[in-house]
Amino acid sequence: MHAATTVSLIPVLNDNYVFVLHGGGRGAAVVDPAVAEPVVAWLEERGLELEAILHTHHHNDHIGGAPGLLQRWPQAAVIASAADRERIPLQTQGVQGGDQFMLLGRRLRVIEVPGHTRHHIAYALEPEAEEAPELFCGDTLFAGGCGRLFEGTPEQMLSSLQSLSALGADTRVWCAHEYTEGNLRWAAEVEPENEAIRKRLAFVQQLRSEGRPTIPSSIGLEQATNLFMRAKNAAALRQLRGHKDLWRG
Ligand code: ZN
Ligand code: FE
Repeated sequence: MHAATTVSLIPVLNDNYVFVLHGGGRGAAVVDPAVAEPVVAWLEERGLELEAILHTHHHNDHIGGAPGLLQRWPQAAVIASAADRERIPLQTQGVQGGDQFMLLGRRLRVIEVPGHTRHHIAYALEPEAEEAPELFCGDTLFAGGCGRLFEGTPEQMLSSLQSLSALGADTRVWCAHEYTEGNLRWAAEVEPENEAIRKRLAFVQQLRSEGRPTIPSSIGLEQATNLFMRAKNAAALRQLRGHKDLWRG
């Protein structure tokens, strides 16, 4: 019998989240460490040893903490997209869509989600009995939004969001930025009649006014309130993305 894997979040920089996975033992893994210092402090406070670093994509606010973490825990594995080896050079375990691997006694699955960057990947932690799957999706799916299309097409982002949607409504969504309130304020302007969006916006504003994170979300909640997730086709997604890129709320 081992304790369930817990996911914790550490807010860093302006609006980034670093996620920590830890179970019953002393081992831990982190997803998308933007910086090292607060993550080292967080793990040390709890007597945890870092076993692995997971990256969703190569942007510095998702890999910047790796060198500092490796200085403290040189044995930690660094898991990232094999196709992005040049831009994530510290990786020790390259992965690609469809790969599965064990971490802290649990199975993770790699999902290819191009759009924000060409080699962006997501990690799905398979559920244990009675638990929901956990999804680490970097800058692909956000609560109420999606990542900007720096290197990909609306077609790619649409299909990436569809892959994540297929994980099921109860999947908990750990996205890497606290963008939820702005995303929903925008969405409420685009669809002022949408009751579900207005309700969620009010709830999210309450959380933020108390200084609390709006993460995790869930796939079900995104299916109900995320306009990008609800886009019927690539043309619709392209239009939404273009509108949001110019929106100054
Ligand atoms: Zn990014
Ligand atoms: Fe980012």
